[in-house]
Amino acid sequence: MKSQPIDTYASELAEDVRRAVADGSASGYDRRAASLFSDFEDPDFLRRTAGDVKQHTLENLDTYLAQTEDRLKENGVEVHWAGDAEAACRAVLKIMRDNGATKVVKSKSMATEEIHLNDFLEREGIESLETDLGEFIVQIDHDHPSHIVKPIIHKNRQGIARSYEREGLGAYDDRPEVITARARKFLRKKYLEASVGLTGANFIVAESGRLVLVTNEGNSRFCLAGTDIHIAVVGIEKVIPRDRDLSLFLSLLGRSATGQQLTVYTEFISGPRAEGQPDGPRQMHVILLDNRRTEVLASNCRDILRCIRCGACLNVCPIYRQASGHAYRSVYPGPVGAVLSPLLAGEKFSELADLPKASSLCGACKEVCPVNIPIPDLLLRLRDKAKHEGIKSPGTPPMGGWAYLASQPTVWRASLSAGRLMNLMPLNLIPVPALRAWTKSRQLPEWRGGAFRKWMKTRKIGGKDS
Ligand code: SF4
Repeated sequence: MKSQPIDTYASELAEDVRRAVADGSASGYDRRAASLFSDFEDPDFLRRTAGDVKQHTLENLDTYLAQTEDRLKENGVEVHWAGDAEAACRAVLKIMRDNGATKVVKSKSMATEEIHLNDFLEREGIESLETDLGEFIVQIDHDHPSHIVKPIIHKNRQGIARSYEREGLGAYDDRPEVITARARKFLRKKYLEASVGLTGANFIVAESGRLVLVTNEGNSRFCLAGTDIHIAVVGIEKVIPRDRDLSLFLSLLGRSATGQQLTVYTEFISGPRAEGQPDGPRQMHVILLDNRRTEVLASNCRDILRCIRCGACLNVCPIYRQASGHAYRSVYPGPVGAVLSPLLAGEKFSELADLPKASSLCGACKEVCPVNIPIPDLLLRLRDKAKHEGIKSPGTPPMGGWAYLASQPTVWRASLSAGRLMNLMPLNLIPVPALRAWTKSRQLPEWRGGAFRKWMKTRKIGGKDS
């Protein structure tokens, strides 16, 4: 991932990638709207309710986490607590080493992306294979996902066919059914070789200790069908109070993410293989991951922890559509990433402090969010945080001059009138470089500084002079 300001990255993006991302996002947005508004009279009511349930859970997270741990243990699950990424990776490694395991098959999980688990396991000599088709392609290309739900939104099938050829998965053939069949054939063998299945969780229910996984490919089932050990790495914010809440969240998740009424495979996992059951892992471990979530919870941006990773805010965001996920230089892209990534960066906040500025604050992300997160407000709070910490990041406009003028009424009036000189100036001589570049493709409006004040003086409000 190139480390450069988001607008520079966007301006250098290849046209075919920009088109693929823009088209993929737009179609996701259309499908979401069609599915939500045809099935429900008042989808906004559902979004608000889901947001309230998540907010309630966050505000009582200590209680719900303790309840979750108790239920998991009663169900025969081993519970591990991981304060940071290193602790979570080490916990996975220890479980594997204790059991002599060397191969793991993984289903898609943002939490494991966040802690860079694959890189860690590779360094430790463990084979960790992604089994979601998109993530598998990202892995063989040594690339990064560009979208939360559609990791290869930035790729086309021709490029994927070339990758397959390079990796020895078959001669060049870019037909989608061939690409899919080849991955399936390769992965089936790997499922049988691995002894550990690794997943995240979309939800974990405090009332029952049930883990809920949704996929469209059924790969998480394969990960758990033939392996002996199931390890789930789950962010602590994934807890929801009751099983009955799932009907609301699953209805919103499928529709918001892909426009489906329900994701194709929904698994409810209540523990390891019980006596008498013919298959399934004999051990189950849940690693509850903090990794600065409690710091976020204590901040004025805690609402972002309601996120259920549906990707709808990415699909609707005009910045994401033009810039792609890689522009955000972090695991979480788009509007959710512009809030969550700087917060999770902790002491490296300044390195991502430009992300909250990558927004026009149009509010579309809030309108589509299934848990009603006020993303524009959170972006403003993070801009404010950067300002108070004195962080200068790309995208910070030079406001010092404006602040001086705005606080000096006489100077302000004089500069408004003097600005009329701009109307006489040839565009290529405008002294502000950014304005010169702007006028290359746009008409600079006529400067009318002071006109409003003059007009205001002539008005009468309520029969009185204004
Ligand atoms: S912030 Fe909302 S819309 Fe964006 S991914 Fe999270 S739940 Fe979905």
